[in-house]
Amino acid sequence: MQEAANIGGINPADLPSPPAAVARVVRLASDPEVTSDKLGAVIASDPAFTAELLRTVNSPFYGLQAPITAASRAVTVLGIRPLRNLAICFAVRDSLRNSAFRTQDLELFWEDCLRRAVAARVLARTSGLVAPEEAFTVGLLQDFGMLAILRANRKDFAQWPKWRAMSPGDRHDDEMERFGLAHDGIADLLGTRWGLPPGLVGALTWHHRPDDAACPPAHRVMARLAWHADLICALIASPTSDGLTEVREALAADYNLHDEAADRVLECIPLEVEQAATGLGMRVGHQPNFASIVAEASKTLVEMNSTYEELTVKLERALAEKEALMERLQEANAALARLAYFDPLTGLSNRRHFDGIFRDSLTKAAQAGTVVSLVMVDLDQFKSVNDTYGHGVGDIVLRNSANAIIKCCHDGDVKARLGGEELAVLLPGCDAQKAFGAAERFRQAIEAGQVTTQQGVLKVTASFGVSTFQGSGTRVDVERLAQVLTDIGDKALYQSKHNGRNRTTIGGVVR
Ligand code: GH3
Ligand code: MG
Ligand code: MG
Repeated sequence: MQEAANIGGINPADLPSPPAAVARVVRLASDPEVTSDKLGAVIASDPAFTAELLRTVNSPFYGLQAPITAASRAVTVLGIRPLRNLAICFAVRDSLRNSAFRTQDLELFWEDCLRRAVAARVLARTSGLVAPEEAFTVGLLQDFGMLAILRANRKDFAQWPKWRAMSPGDRHDDEMERFGLAHDGIADLLGTRWGLPPGLVGALTWHHRPDDAACPPAHRVMARLAWHADLICALIASPTSDGLTEVREALAADYNLHDEAADRVLECIPLEVEQAATGLGMRVGHQPNFASIVAEASKTLVEMNSTYEELTVKLERALAEKEALMERLQEANAALARLAYFDPLTGLSNRRHFDGIFRDSLTKAAQAGTVVSLVMVDLDQFKSVNDTYGHGVGDIVLRNSANAIIKCCHDGDVKARLGGEELAVLLPGCDAQKAFGAAERFRQAIEAGQVTTQQGVLKVTASFGVSTFQGSGTRVDVERLAQVLTDIGDKALYQSKHNGRNRTTIGGVVR
């Protein structure tokens, strides 16, 4: 026999060789000239093979009516090709039995081979596209190359349980990545070593790529069927909703098996796997029925959905937390802005804020040729309020005075606490007379207020000084102008103090 070359590190010796009797039967059965008698005679000359053959054909695997007692009769009843396939099945089984698999892994490998074989046979029978016994053999052999790969890479035996739970495509990719070749790449080697007919070798070679343009049309149908058998086997070994969808779509598209028709096909697989195992003298565990596979697959969908729901809830919670944080950040920023611009005791603008607005206002008035007035305010004898009633009362008086001024102001007026008990009000659009009127309103409002303390009722007054700027449409030195107006206001205020307090003095107009 001509040996194929070493492929991807797999030596022909890594492939188990078939028992001599089987090899002879396979070779002879592939000879178009062979007769049933001749094949029967060859089989009869090997008592072990004969016994096995008779046991198998009389098992429920074949479901024959009357028992068969002679090899020649078995050949006539089965036909040459089915007999050849049976011989191959024996050889596969024996090779696996003699492999280095641990018993437990071996049983799983067997089980998967049988499931592929049965699935392929059921699809062949239902569709009528290819011979069912031929499909069975392809199914049994299609991952046989794995055995050679694992014999050459013994340390990877332990990976087997992981691989069989993967989808066929993913497992193929994993084999390619790990070993540089996958089980379908060894089909030629196996074909040569075992003397397999080209139809079988073609299906084994192309079962992962049946739609590849290079796949010869003669092999395409069987290769596709083998691929679908692989999908079905993976679904039974590890039921997932994706796997179930893929199988159902394949059955509908390729075999016109929809819904219940597809389910009926899948339902007969467990029993047939058990029958085939008994027929071939193999042990397989209890086969899950199709309903439980569907239930298991839907559970993965439910799990996926619930993880999805959990994720959605987590995401929503994170978003809500983010929103709450943003709100707190905005509040903190607003509080910071208030601190930066406003005096916490009175709520009036602080000096820094006021200075900015004062200068902007002067610039605008200068350009627009409008008028703006500044009212300087200082509480009278405030030191003695603190000294007599304490700082707490002093603070209340300060706050009441600020409120009295706020109530008398119009929109656009800017109220500020410049420091201590010195306040200022900027009155855009007010000439000296109007500003005087406003200051008098402030003064009366403060005077009208009273604070009840433990030492009796406290009355407070304040003194005012007014300065005014009349713009003329020309640019001005704002810094200087602000200083001049402040000085004039301060001097007018001092005048009010000097004249007996609780009064307003107009300082002068700057043009
Ligand atoms: P005058 O009528 O001449 O203005 O007399 P005055 O006592 O008001 O003048 P002075 O400037 O001597 O005193 C200002 C006092 O204002 C000193 C301080 O005790 C008080 N003061 C300044 N800031 C605060 C404050 O935030 N709270 C309180 N309670 N008192 C303050
Ligand atoms: Mg004072
Ligand atoms: Mg003062």
